[in-house]
Amino acid sequence: MGIQGWLSLSVQGYNPANFIQDIIDQDRAAGRCGGRVQTRFPPEPNGYLHIGHAKSICLNFGVAAANGGLCNLRFDDTNPTKEEGEYVEAIKEDVRWLGFDWDDRCFHASDYFDQLYKWAIQLIEDGKAYVCDLTADEIREQRGTLTEPGRESPYRNRSVEENLDLFRRMRAGEFPDGARVLRAKIDMASGNINMRDPVLYRILHAEHHRTGAQWCIYPMYDYAHPLSDAIEGITHSICTLEFEDHRPLYDWLLEQLKIPDPPKQIEFARLNLTHTLTSKRGLRRLVQEGHVSGWDDPRMPTLSGMRRRGYTPAAIRNFCSDIGVAKTNSVVSLAQLEHFVREDLNRTAPRVMAVLRPLKVVLVNYPEDVTEEFTIENNPEDPAAGSRLIPFSRTLYIEQEDFMEEPVPKYFRLAPGREVRLKGAYLVKCEEVVKDPETGRVVELRCTYDPETRGGEAPDGRKVKGTIHWVSARHAVDATVRLYDKLFLTEDPNEGGDFVANLNPNSLEVLNGCKVEPSVSQAAPGSRYQFLRHGYFCVDRDSSPEALIFNRTVTLKDTWAKVSARSEAPDDLVHQ
Ligand code: ATP
Ligand code: MG
Repeated sequence: MGIQGWLSLSVQGYNPANFIQDIIDQDRAAGRCGGRVQTRFPPEPNGYLHIGHAKSICLNFGVAAANGGLCNLRFDDTNPTKEEGEYVEAIKEDVRWLGFDWDDRCFHASDYFDQLYKWAIQLIEDGKAYVCDLTADEIREQRGTLTEPGRESPYRNRSVEENLDLFRRMRAGEFPDGARVLRAKIDMASGNINMRDPVLYRILHAEHHRTGAQWCIYPMYDYAHPLSDAIEGITHSICTLEFEDHRPLYDWLLEQLKIPDPPKQIEFARLNLTHTLTSKRGLRRLVQEGHVSGWDDPRMPTLSGMRRRGYTPAAIRNFCSDIGVAKTNSVVSLAQLEHFVREDLNRTAPRVMAVLRPLKVVLVNYPEDVTEEFTIENNPEDPAAGSRLIPFSRTLYIEQEDFMEEPVPKYFRLAPGREVRLKGAYLVKCEEVVKDPETGRVVELRCTYDPETRGGEAPDGRKVKGTIHWVSARHAVDATVRLYDKLFLTEDPNEGGDFVANLNPNSLEVLNGCKVEPSVSQAAPGSRYQFLRHGYFCVDRDSSPEALIFNRTVTLKDTWAKVSARSEAPDDLVHQ
């Protein structure tokens, strides 16, 4: 397809320059399924969605939208023991937040249990399935290996009548868990182990979160999935590569049951991100063992965690579109995701001044009782964002790191006898350093301001290199700021075997008594800002005007890249 074609197909979160689109183009040209395109996103409700699922969501909804089709949301809830209703609502919220809509097409595999059962009966009647009394261990033993064929079950040649009777009695609850299974009758010598009489149904006396105690036999994923796709009229069933070897079984079932216009399974490479765990099971363990505060801990790669951290849906969609869709597994750098977060927030987040580690500055020649206001733009990237007034007075706070008693080379910020620009206000000069007599710590700077430099420019044209941010002590609001960093120290969280050993002990630093300009005093949870020179921050859901809490979404630059490059002089942090 030419570039024009791609442009006309472009959908947020989906870049149609991929092999799946090529397959769809061919299918549509050939009139397969009447030219219809219908996909599905099929989460198992056994945990919260993570960034890997975002890739699948963007792909499935994107493919549908780009081809005038539809995408269903389907809960793959065939395993009653692992699934919980709580997760269903969380998943819906996350998909919606990411910007996708399934209209009235939210389905559950459990809705199809009756039809799946009928189809199982049909397979038995057609001599394509049988009830097997081997234990799970015996079945595994007899399955063979990649180099050896499997052995046929002694129950393989039961009569249709006996199979029907036993399967009905399985359903009626006559047998305990694990006593019998229903197996497809395919080929124990197949080169594909998935085709060696796979299990279709097992006995499980367990309540299901939707069907209650109605069933005590449950279909296996490999049986339920293709048939759920068929019931919903799915045309392209997009899944991750580990299902490639299951595709012959997928096709076999559709063929035996003579499904018209059968869905086509297409596999793509799952998303792997450095420093990131993308397995619900692993993430659940982090929650259960208390390594994080919950599924929506801002360090979690869950959509709810990223939302709470301040990531935007657009940033995640842009990332998913950028990484594309391939057929071979690879690992994407977390820095790439952060790049898209910065890019989006740079356009949209209002700038504010916040002092995270305050150092008091008294302007000794500034009147005690005066408050001035300075107009400062809200977002230099977006003139439409307007400006705001920031109060200025005799006593201010600046960052502790913006002062050095003995400045190193290339340090252009405040030091004894040096002049610096207070962003948008005046040039000030450090005249005196006040220390705590006991500890020797610098507790206050006594400075003079130059009244001729209102707005930050000196009429005599003298050059002042450093510009630092500040807040007026009298007007500032207190805040708690949570600085989040990578959850894992190693690129591969599983390096060495156990990801818990690779957790970053410094993934969260909590700063209390931070001083923020008063314009954010009423900021609602979820609001996002750029704290000048610090990074992007998001108001936490537990924040209130009485106790503001900000979560750091991402720093302004990739500080890890900087650390590993071992830059020597401290960065001149002037970002205007
Ligand atoms: P997990 O191991 O995290 O539980 P899963 O594949 O079992 O993942 P599902 O709820 O079954 O989770 O996934 C729903 C859909 O999302 C499936 O189509 C699955 O292939 C896809 N998916 C899951 N993880 C990723 C990933 N890392 N990258 C891309 N797609 C993914
Ligand atoms: Mg799964």
